[in-house]
Amino acid sequence: MTTVSAPTWLDVPADHPFGIATLPYGVFSTASDPGARVGVAIGEMILDLAPAVRSLAPPLAPAVSGPSLDALLAAGPRAWSELRALVTAWLTDTALGERLGRHLVPARDAVLHLPFTVADYVDFYASEQHATNIGRMFRPGQEPLTPNWKHLPIGYHGRAGTVVGSGTDVVRPRGQRRGADGEITYGPSQRLDIEAELGFVVGTPSRLGSPVGLAGFPEHVFGVCLVNDWSARDIQAWEYVPLGPFLGKSFATSVSPWVVPLAAFEPARVAPPARTVPLLPYLDDSRTPPWGLDVRLEVRLNGHVVSRPRFDGMYWTGAQMLAHLTANGASLRTGDLYASGTISGERPDERGSLMELSWGGAEPLGLPDGTTRSFLEDGDEVVISAYAPGADGAVIGLGEVRGRILPAH
Ligand code: MN
Repeated sequence: MTTVSAPTWLDVPADHPFGIATLPYGVFSTASDPGARVGVAIGEMILDLAPAVRSLAPPLAPAVSGPSLDALLAAGPRAWSELRALVTAWLTDTALGERLGRHLVPARDAVLHLPFTVADYVDFYASEQHATNIGRMFRPGQEPLTPNWKHLPIGYHGRAGTVVGSGTDVVRPRGQRRGADGEITYGPSQRLDIEAELGFVVGTPSRLGSPVGLAGFPEHVFGVCLVNDWSARDIQAWEYVPLGPFLGKSFATSVSPWVVPLAAFEPARVAPPARTVPLLPYLDDSRTPPWGLDVRLEVRLNGHVVSRPRFDGMYWTGAQMLAHLTANGASLRTGDLYASGTISGERPDERGSLMELSWGGAEPLGLPDGTTRSFLEDGDEVVISAYAPGADGAVIGLGEVRGRILPAH
């Protein structure tokens, strides 16, 4: 795989988050052509992939001709790398400028859609700092990390049918909770929160009964997106014992419109933090190049940056999450999405949820308009964006995931 970026014939600055080293896939439509179709972002433009591939690489056309990324996800790792190499070559070959130019659409004219059909959805809990902070607040006086935490990546199965595209409004959930006075009530959540996470998008399915090992990660995972795992803390705190998150999470989960291929992250691979507990062989990545990722996120609330979490401090990698997710023989399906869990660092300004940023409401955040927030209010808009460092000063952008809170119905 090449990590050195040739210039594109499009006028894209070398450090543009969607430069030639990123080439994320998404699904878009335009007012003049309202059919949803597959695109690749390049600078401020989107390459309409189906007509370009039909013209220049017809055998790959079935993988990109549908209204979603589903066929491309199912096409497998050889097709993924072949297509990425071709698109890279086309966008750096000046002779193709005229032929491809007619298939470029300004991104500002496009509407972006949920890019793939979400099959199963799993959410992990892979940040030691997040798990420690939440443990301190949910179980005061007890050891914050549960005894299993450093032996396996903890996760739960979420609700795939309520994964929504960026820009989808989120209606404040109602639910049952127990107040400070012990009274049990049902009503709109009063502690509505965000969780800034990365999502891993599965392309290649696996056989029921056959675990996928650490080495299977790039064979099965197509790419990475951003996830906002909206969380109602009051509902969650009351319901989660003993079976884990349920209605406090399942009302909506937002994902970014662009899926960045795993291949683009090659220059951003880093070693994860040192493990303080020996790992069982199926999770032990000490003898293989590990899949820590240097991805830097930014969380904005009503336009104001409230946090800058970093993925490079995550205790568990995406490869370990996949190995554990399938360790019992559970099979993967094309379109499976598994998220990392809230990304929180050591520093207070690296915490990926409002629950941690406001320490359960004890330390509300001040916003530039003079108001304060411990949790989300109706009308609040949250935007999570991210990038990773590329080779030679390139920037691997993940774009953003956006959502606004509407009042409870
Ligand atoms: Mn989560």
